[in-house]
Amino acid sequence: MTPHLMLRIHQLPESVVAKIAAGEVVERPASVVKELLENSVDAGATRIDVDVEQGGVERICVVDNGAGIPPEDLPLAFASHATSKLARAEDLFQVSTLGFRGEALASIGGVSQVSLQSRQPDREAGAAIDCHGSVLSAVRPWNGSPGTRLDVRHLFYNTPVRRKFLRTTSTEMGHVCEVFTRLALAQPQLHLTLRHHDKAVYEVLPTAALADRLGLFFGAELQEKLYPVEATGGQVELRGYVADPSFDRGTAKMQYIFLNGRWIRDRSLGHAIQEAYRGLLMTGRYAVVFLFLTMPADWVDVNVHPTKTEVRFRDGSALYNLVLQTIRRRLNAANLTPRLQVPPRMPWQAIPSGGQAMAGGTPVAILPPPPAAPPQAAPQMQPSSATVANGTTPEPQILLPRQTEVRAIQLYSAYLVLETVDGMLVIDQHALHERILFDELQDRIRAGTLEVQELLVPETVQLTAEQAARALEHREALAKLGLGLHDFGGGAVLVTSYPALLGKRSPQAILKAVVDHLAARDRAPTREQLFNELLSLMACHSAVRSGDPLTQEQIAALVARRDLANDPHHCPHGRPTSLLFSRHDLDRQFRRI
Ligand code: ADP
Ligand code: MG
Repeated sequence: MTPHLMLRIHQLPESVVAKIAAGEVVERPASVVKELLENSVDAGATRIDVDVEQGGVERICVVDNGAGIPPEDLPLAFASHATSKLARAEDLFQVSTLGFRGEALASIGGVSQVSLQSRQPDREAGAAIDCHGSVLSAVRPWNGSPGTRLDVRHLFYNTPVRRKFLRTTSTEMGHVCEVFTRLALAQPQLHLTLRHHDKAVYEVLPTAALADRLGLFFGAELQEKLYPVEATGGQVELRGYVADPSFDRGTAKMQYIFLNGRWIRDRSLGHAIQEAYRGLLMTGRYAVVFLFLTMPADWVDVNVHPTKTEVRFRDGSALYNLVLQTIRRRLNAANLTPRLQVPPRMPWQAIPSGGQAMAGGTPVAILPPPPAAPPQAAPQMQPSSATVANGTTPEPQILLPRQTEVRAIQLYSAYLVLETVDGMLVIDQHALHERILFDELQDRIRAGTLEVQELLVPETVQLTAEQAARALEHREALAKLGLGLHDFGGGAVLVTSYPALLGKRSPQAILKAVVDHLAARDRAPTREQLFNELLSLMACHSAVRSGDPLTQEQIAALVARRDLANDPHHCPHGRPTSLLFSRHDLDRQFRRI
């Protein structure tokens, strides 16, 4: 028999309970900074100064000018489940303060050496108390300026295992800065400072202009790329900024969501944000947004997570839609043609013919001359561009507008170059056609006017049993897209119909692409995700390819349809469809202005 089984059930000592509780609230120095900052905000402070040493591991000192604590309450501040912010159970569903669990100071005091000094503004004198590993000192008088001062030293000094889990000073300091940034964004009216080893890291003055604060923390370059958003849905208010898709990131960390002055993490809203940027970002890239939500306190349950960073909304789906629609609309309203970034002052230098010019030591690629023979002007059948209007498909791929006057030339059988009011536009023919087809497929499916080509003789496609099962599992979604499938057994699948828009592309090839796509998914996509993915897959397969020569008519048709696309600037995968060399940049580079 193992010895621990012989122990009798007993109540754990207070100090052990405190250490267990601390594990939930205090993970690292940044957690302490977060709790202390929140307490200062709840106390109505207008200025908070934070001083840390060794990333907060050795010392965290937070001084505020808030309401202070009555001397007689000082010992209670470190008692667990002791709070001045809640009285009744009902209050739990009406939380308007950042804290309410009464656990932070008890937890922090259990795993460090804290000294607390406080004075209420209307009292002559204040008082101080220490708490070392849950052990309280006597309360003594203290005569400092109004407000509260908490000095936390030697975090985890009595829990060596937890101390070992701490990372390097710079990593811990990074987390501290992140916590500080979140609070500074959530509460722009506050004057905040952060110092590390007596050196100023941030000095943030109160401001009404949130954009300035964003500029301060994330740089002027971001600030210039922000679009303001504002919307109301019932009692929910949404405002904030969303960044231009060109300012994308490799992680979702720069998607800041604040709810009633509190930074929160929310997977569903994160998804809404990415959905709003669909088609504007490459796969694996994340948008940068700062969203501030306000709603009645009883519309949200903040008591689901010890650190209160995860919440539960009463009407999550309405909120999801509000976020998605608001951002989507704003992005659509912005002109998002990627502009070619030319260095502001490229030093003049003689350009060796056909080679590379050296500008300040940096090689600059020079565009080679256009192909010798300009594309044929006469209408022409191009065997390699079978999907382009060629009379043999039931539905012309590129509808010819009645009259078009575009002057465009094709380069490398891949790009179309044309003159616009703003400058020289270079279009990726495949990406643009893909975008147009995507929109068209989507519109037709919504309107129920998708043309489906029934196959007189169904085409048999041999797959592995698993692939076949996957494809058949999504039979309904695929049928909506015009791709009719039947189980033939033994891994064989019959294709009975396909979208007419696919033209002559083989149904077999498209089914295989669909199967590959489904196999690459590690998680089951939502219905809408899957639908959009398949839609873009079909658009991609049906579009003209890079390398397909186009006739002048086809070029004209493609370019004319650009204006009809919902988002003519990006293909459904998020690659740009076109690049603009602005007139202004051209003039500047050639020293005309
Ligand atoms: P909670 O914030 O959940 O109430 P804490 O353990 O963080 O619990 O704090 C306990 C109590 O100590 C608070 O309810 C508050 O009354 C008091 N307190 C803590 N920090 C401050 C502060 N900076 N200014 C004024 N009162 C404070
Ligand atoms: Mg608190």
